[in-house]
Amino acid sequence: MELSEIMKDGRTAFTFEIFPPKRDMPIETIYKTLDGLQGLHPDFISVTYGAGGSAADTKTADIARIIKEKYGMESAVHLTCLYNSKEDIDLIVEQLKERNIKNILALRGDYNPNAVTEPKEDFKHASDLIAYLKTKGDFHIMGACYPEAHQEAESLDADIENLKKKVDAGASHLLSQLFFDNDAFFRFLEKARKAGINVPIEAGIMPCTSKASIERMVTMCGASLPAKFTRMMARYQDYPDALKEAGIAYAIDQIVDLVSRGVDGIHLYTMNSPYVAKKITDAVAPLINPGLTR
Ligand code: FAD
Repeated sequence: MELSEIMKDGRTAFTFEIFPPKRDMPIETIYKTLDGLQGLHPDFISVTYGAGGSAADTKTADIARIIKEKYGMESAVHLTCLYNSKEDIDLIVEQLKERNIKNILALRGDYNPNAVTEPKEDFKHASDLIAYLKTKGDFHIMGACYPEAHQEAESLDADIENLKKKVDAGASHLLSQLFFDNDAFFRFLEKARKAGINVPIEAGIMPCTSKASIERMVTMCGASLPAKFTRMMARYQDYPDALKEAGIAYAIDQIVDLVSRGVDGIHLYTMNSPYVAKKITDAVAPLINPGLTR
């Protein structure tokens, strides 16, 4: 289904995110993940782009093509601009067109101390990349948003003002950073709507499946942890299998609440785990659009 269609008539989107295999691993290792995700019928699967990635690395675009052609599912690529010049982006756009990829999550990206090149000067913010991509063809362009504000923003209000610039530049759909506190997401949503941001906003859900991964993510993105979440971590932190199941249960609970409160969509960070994605999908798929077949 075309992305512009997936949220028509109040339909709630259910989308997945995966990451490409590490540099020294063959692209075929992604097949195992995709084999497991295929039967779950997400509206699309987005594929991340390495921090400091370059036009020479076509893994993200290649996997997006595999998702469409081999697995028959819709796909989207993430694309960052901090380390790409206009010429690099032109080259990547050609690669996407060759692969018939129409959906792009356009991002600034983060500074990467291990990047092989220095940041380029052509694009300062995601909104610059979005405006540029709009001139390059008929792409469905998405942007990132941050329910608890981007870590560099002065305040949530300032971040939402900047978010509006992305939408004005041509982003027609937003995917959110992960969060564990649904009330924080709805506070953000209310402010975004008041600021005139009227495009669909999917809520980013990351199941907490190990103590190490959650600590890393929280340090990186600063998500706040409700008491219910920290109690769960404290209870199960020494029991990895139980923690994984508790993390899945927490994500399901979050999704049921979000959907009941009318969220536009759920963007599930699958961490390339078909096991986790399947458990969550089995629990929530009948609730996402009751009465509609997936
Ligand atoms: P921007 O929108 O440019 O925002 C960055 C900062 O600048 C914010 O503080 C914002 O308030 C401010 N700002 C924005 N526009 C303006 C403006 N016009 N004027 C002044 N200030 C402005 N990273 C990767 O490397 N690869 C990925 O695949 C990837 N996928 C992601 C997927 C999702 C759903 C999310 C939420 C993030 C993802 N990221 C990824 C991380 C992202 O690259 C970082 O969060 C990055 O720091 C910001 O990217 P952005 O596109 O939001 O930047």
